[in-house]
Amino acid sequence: MYQLAQQRRPTNGFTMSIIFFLLAVAGTIQLEAQTSGGVLDKTPGVYSATTLVEVNSPASPVNDSLIAIVGVRLIDGLGGPPIDDMVVLIDGIRIVDVGPRSLVKIPENATVYDGQGKTLMPGLIDSHLHSVNDDAFLNVILKRGTTSLRDPGHPFRFYQVLDFAKSPAPRAFLTGSHMDGYPGVYKDHALLVKDHAHARETVYDYVRQGSSGIKIYFRLPLEFYAPIVKAAEACHIPVFAHLELVDADDAIRAGIDGIEHVTSFGSALADPADAKEFKDNVRAHSSARSDGRYQLWSRIDLKSDRVREVIKVAVDNDLVFSPTLTTFERQFNDPRAKDYEAKAFKNMLDFVGMAHKAGVRIVTGSHTSGWYADYGWAYQREMELLVEAGLTPMEAIVSSTMSNAAYFRSESRIGSIEKEKLADLLLIDGDPSKNISDMRKISRVMLNGVWVKN
Ligand SMILES: [Zn+2]
Repeated sequence: MYQLAQQRRPTNGFTMSIIFFLLAVAGTIQLEAQTSGGVLDKTPGVYSATTLVEVNSPASPVNDSLIAIVGVRLIDGLGGPPIDDMVVLIDGIRIVDVGPRSLVKIPENATVYDGQGKTLMPGLIDSHLHSVNDDAFLNVILKRGTTSLRDPGHPFRFYQVLDFAKSPAPRAFLTGSHMDGYPGVYKDHALLVKDHAHARETVYDYVRQGSSGIKIYFRLPLEFYAPIVKAAEACHIPVFAHLELVDADDAIRAGIDGIEHVTSFGSALADPADAKEFKDNVRAHSSARSDGRYQLWSRIDLKSDRVREVIKVAVDNDLVFSPTLTTFERQFNDPRAKDYEAKAFKNMLDFVGMAHKAGVRIVTGSHTSGWYADYGWAYQREMELLVEAGLTPMEAIVSSTMSNAAYFRSESRIGSIEKEKLADLLLIDGDPSKNISDMRKISRVMLNGVWVKN
């Protein structure tokens, strides 16, 4: 049934790079991602100044597929209250109508699905997932509701088996190897930046290969942030960072779009003497961050002026914050966890709640796995933790859909249930706007107009 993923890389790099630079210069050229024929629609990564795309093409429905999902409770991804007894009409890969049962005309040739008692919502978008050539895992998370993901910072070759996937996979947004400073942390899959020109050229090279974002890693000195941000802006792609040695407020002022991991804020929030000790240790041995971050966070005073100031910088600069709490979760009364680790985690949760309350845009990133998440369920655990941190279930749903779509700069294609959007949809048994753990009750998943779990 599936027309399997075809095209991910340009066949003619030179032509592509010319086209790309024309696009970057013109800035306003709009290309329709789904048009057939021609060469431009095969370019991975960049389609227009405003819409970024995945490197893999999901299967499209065969024949003239017309689907009506009838009688559902609708959560559209935009944050308003759920609406009962709605109809959503899908023609091919697109949503073509959304409305109350009394107003939407259901064509006779439509295949009708009864959504009575179920919730229909947009597919989940994961801002932080790592997978190494593992199509089976990607299919597992797709069936649990993740229809788009971004791997922030690994070589493109980590996803080359997507070209041969025998089962459907989420839309994969890639960034290329993370950009780190000498001596690096993971030398076998990092790009170690030599100088400013090298930083810029790397951004352009990644975009030619299909990159839809740039990831900065924690040993890269602050001086390289500005040239990277400038080059990425010229290519209309976002920049995000994992921090340990550069303070979050400095990184934000340098122009990055997003911060990955709650721990990235540690050195900026901590008492300066504690922060210095932490950074000295990590500079000497990168691995010191693993225990050091729990020591550091266990002592952070969330009532301090520093915390308020850093949150204000994040709000003022419209930062996107992907906390990936699941990775760091440590609970009291768990024999595997030390007390200071559980205390640190409580501070991380509370900090995310404070940032959210102050207006920082929070998005959902699973970081693939965590102590308290079974295989393939890290994303749902992250949604639960965001609610524990202080988001309402509906806010956690928006963080998982429309907010991430905007972070991916793909909000004109995915992230909500609206006319013209791509049909990436979930049918849930229950109401996750009341109980976020209902996100585990996935009944059906649609990707690009095709049911991939039913
Ligand atoms: Zn990561």
